[in-house]
This record gives sequence, C-alpha cells and structure tokens, in this order.
Amino acid sequence: MKRALYPGTFDPITNGHLDILKRALQLFDQIVVTVAVNPKKTPLFSMEERIELIQDVLKHEIGNNRVEVEGFGGLLIDFARKKKACAIIRGLRAVSDFEYELQMALMNRRLADEVITVFLMPHENYSYLNSTIVKEVARLGGDVSDFVPPQVKEALLKKLNASD
Ligand code: ADP
Repeated sequence: MKRALYPGTFDPITNGHLDILKRALQLFDQIVVTVAVNPKKTPLFSMEERIELIQDVLKHEIGNNRVEVEGFGGLLIDFARKKKACAIIRGLRAVSDFEYELQMALMNRRLADEVITVFLMPHENYSYLNSTIVKEVARLGGDVSDFVPPQVKEALLKKLNASD
C-alpha cells in the first residue's frame, strides 16, 4: 500500500490542486492532503474552513475513500513518518516554482532519505493558476468559475461579502 502526502496551504483549493491530486491518485493508493499551518502566510480561510472545503470538493469531484484531509503544523517529514507515507507530492507549474521546490525537496531528503519528493506538472490550462490570484480576481468581482470548483466559488463570495 503506497501512501503519499500532498502538502500545501490550500487557501482555497483550486482546479490546479485537483489536477495534481487526480494525477497522484494514478500513482499512489492513498493520498493525505496535508493542510499546512503556514506562519508566513495569513490565510483568508481558517484551517477548519480549508479542510471542510477540501472535503466537500473531494466528495463531489473524486468520491472515493483513497484521499484523507488533515491539518498539520510541524515538520513535514515527521508527519510523513507518522502517516507511513513514502512520498511527498508537489506541483510544478513553471520555472519560477523550481528554485524553492528544489531547496525544499533536497532539505527534506537530507532529513528523511526514505521519503521521496515527486513533482507533477498540471494540465497547461492550470499552469498560471494559484490561490492568491484566484482570491484577487474574486475580490475585484471577476468570475472564478473556470478556476475553482463551485463550492469554493460560493465560499469565496460569502467570505468576501462578509469582510466588506
Ligand atoms: P504552498 O504554500 O505550500 O505552495 P499551495 O496551496 O499554494 O501551498 O500549493 C500546494 C502545492 O500545490 C504546491 O506544490 C504547488 O506548487 C501546487 N499547486 C498549486 N497550484 C497549482 C496549479 N495551478 N497547478 C499545479 N500545482 C499547483
């Protein structure tokens, strides 16, 4: 049984994240979407909201029990060991992602040689997509239907209206 972590901030989950998750499910038996507490970022959605949104989206988009969603705030390789995960999945969109991802992958390898970082490329339609730009478009009144699942669009509109 091969299990992998898919870590990220997921603030909120986008179609790009889902694309990577679906590809990862072709390679691994189980994926743990690991929602990070990231002290460097101030998320729009709380940890609980991000987890709930992902679970809701998974129910509609993937509908199997091969994906779990968990929040985590410590060192990722500790969580990988705890969950008996053999791999960490990361998405690579463009060259701009590469430098940081290489540093992280090499550091994680140094800390835990047995956990392998696997990079997956999304469909080119999603190569420019990130959660920050989606939030910006939504905030300015743009239509985000092509970029996020309907549940996320709804949550974004609700959240942004509430903060007006
Ligand atoms: P982080 O703060 O860890 O980068 P994100 O939620 O922004 O968290 O991203 C989590 C992972 O998903 C990262 O590996 C990122 O490269 C990947 N990812 C995000 N958006 C996309 C996308 N549009 N296509 C492919 N991978 C993506």
